[in-house]
Amino acid sequence: MTLDISIVPSANPRTAAQVAEILADPGFGTYFTDHMFTVEWTPEKGWHDARITAYGPLTLDPATAVLHYAQETFEGMKAYRHEDGSVWTFRPDQNAERMKRSSHRLALPVLEPEDFVQAVDALVAVDQRWVPEAGSEKSLYIRPFMIATEAFLGVRPSQHVTFMVIASPAGAYFKGGIKPLTLWLTEEYTRAGRGGMGAAKTGGNYASSLVAQQEATAQGCDQVVFLDGAEGKYVEELGGMNMYFVFADGRIVTPATGTILEGITRSAIIELAHQSGHKVEERLFSIDEWREGVASGEITEVFACGTAAVVTPVGTLKWEGGEVQGSTETGPLTQQIRQSLIDIQYGRSADEFHWMHRVL
Ligand SMILES: *Cc1c(COP(=O)(O)O)cnc(C)c1O
Repeated sequence: MTLDISIVPSANPRTAAQVAEILADPGFGTYFTDHMFTVEWTPEKGWHDARITAYGPLTLDPATAVLHYAQETFEGMKAYRHEDGSVWTFRPDQNAERMKRSSHRLALPVLEPEDFVQAVDALVAVDQRWVPEAGSEKSLYIRPFMIATEAFLGVRPSQHVTFMVIASPAGAYFKGGIKPLTLWLTEEYTRAGRGGMGAAKTGGNYASSLVAQQEATAQGCDQVVFLDGAEGKYVEELGGMNMYFVFADGRIVTPATGTILEGITRSAIIELAHQSGHKVEERLFSIDEWREGVASGEITEVFACGTAAVVTPVGTLKWEGGEVQGSTETGPLTQQIRQSLIDIQYGRSADEFHWMHRVL
């Protein structure tokens, strides 16, 4: 706890009735809590002026570096309310460490993991009435982010950086039951290459994925799948979710890290799968192995994972001129892993891996 955080409460917080109305159907990323956390960095002063203030617009000079050169990193995590009213986050140290790695790649300063966790905890504490009720699969989505805020058009790392945390209540990702995704395989666009920033959680990776996602939508698909940049042969991930393939013999394969984003859900699933006796292979996984495996029945389940949707079954894969039909239902292992994860997150089963961090 090294940040000295001042708190200036909002003069216009939402009323209890307004919060209740929003929490009844929060959707995703639409409503924001009453407050936000901010801390600034300069080379001379390091991190300074940590504060929680009323949520509201930022005033930025039009020359602010992040607007031009996308020097930014972000994180995505959730706070969960348990039956006894307590509030918890899931492996926040992992989000903090990943932001440190992302920030290194984007030439941004290091925010120490304990300061990151302190900032998140402080905002969640101030806005605790925004953490939805237990037993609902709703949560408070938390978005920490770091941006280059120096007003300067020269190209070099910004000498003024701002780290902020905002929070937004989130509903259950799947309303009316889980339905397998249909994926579009893009053979034109890639999201990352060797030495690029595929492993960093940074807005540029999302900017570059949008046109491919547009193509997927135009093809009637839910999400886009990217292949490796060098050979266009190996499965990487979706725009914002990692991928898993379950084989009939119980083996599970997931693409190895390097150019993909190192998902915290992905790594938790590796441990859960090991615990239930599955062999997990992190390796190159070709698109042909996927097509042939599903067609032959050797691959029995495919799923995607990430903080927002937890675990999502994948059904059909389509590409220019073809498709391979997967299951129209959620497979048993997909279902089991999803349930194990959310039971830990909502405190309904023992936290054997010590993943949960109590905030309140
Ligand atoms: C955040 C993200 C994921 C999922 O990571 P989690 O830590 O599990 O939420 C996967 N891929 C990309 C590109 C991401 O940005």
